[in-house]
Amino acid sequence: MTEKGARILLIEDEPNIAEGILFNLELEGFQCIHAVTGEEGLEALAQASFDLVVLDLMLPGIDGIEVCRLLRQRDPQLPVLMLTARADEADRVAGLESGADDYLTKPFSLAEFLLRVRGMLRRSSWYRGEALREPVYRFGEVEVQLNEGWARTPRETIELTSQELKVLRLFFNHEGQVLTREKLLAEAWGMSPKAETRTLDNFIVRLRRYFETDPSDPKHFRTVRGRGYRFVREPEQEKRAP
Ligand code: CA
Repeated sequence: MTEKGARILLIEDEPNIAEGILFNLELEGFQCIHAVTGEEGLEALAQASFDLVVLDLMLPGIDGIEVCRLLRQRDPQLPVLMLTARADEADRVAGLESGADDYLTKPFSLAEFLLRVRGMLRRSSWYRGEALREPVYRFGEVEVQLNEGWARTPRETIELTSQELKVLRLFFNHEGQVLTREKLLAEAWGMSPKAETRTLDNFIVRLRRYFETDPSDPKHFRTVRGRGYRFVREPEQEKRAP
């Protein structure tokens, strides 16, 4: 799939915002469907396939969080960009926890919006192209099926989003090494280091909750103070090393 001609579903109830977004997406050559409620959005998802969903958090009826949860049950890998009107941290965390891959806080510039959309489409097509060559990856008691997009832990089986797979692949390819915040944001999100970096921290919280025995005392997804994060595949071997 190329970026051009990608099918995008916009779920947004505010006419002025929807109009600006649709005008610009169509100008870029994307095919857009517009839904004004969560119910309409889910209906559109049931009837056609999309390459990306732009989802407003505050919707009449079913809100964006619930739409995202329901959508994820159906397609764990469909990229979702959530739009939130409030700069409230709790909203952003809730959005990412419900399975959104990224978010933008209103008001945003259309230039920034288009950058995010293009980046997400590019990453998801990379992911689809690479997927068949990927092995199964194991660490601790966790098994990650990168090609099929799911992971098994002693507690549960988790369907992973394309963004989660992208971040996990980066960690697995650099096991034992420090990944700086800048590198993670640039390579996994296509963001400049000055971007809203809470996206990254919220994401790590989510990975720890999935994969760590005790998320408050992470053994695999370690914080490296002032620098970034480090993935440790075998914590026990590391302890014995000099
Ligand atoms: Ca709204």
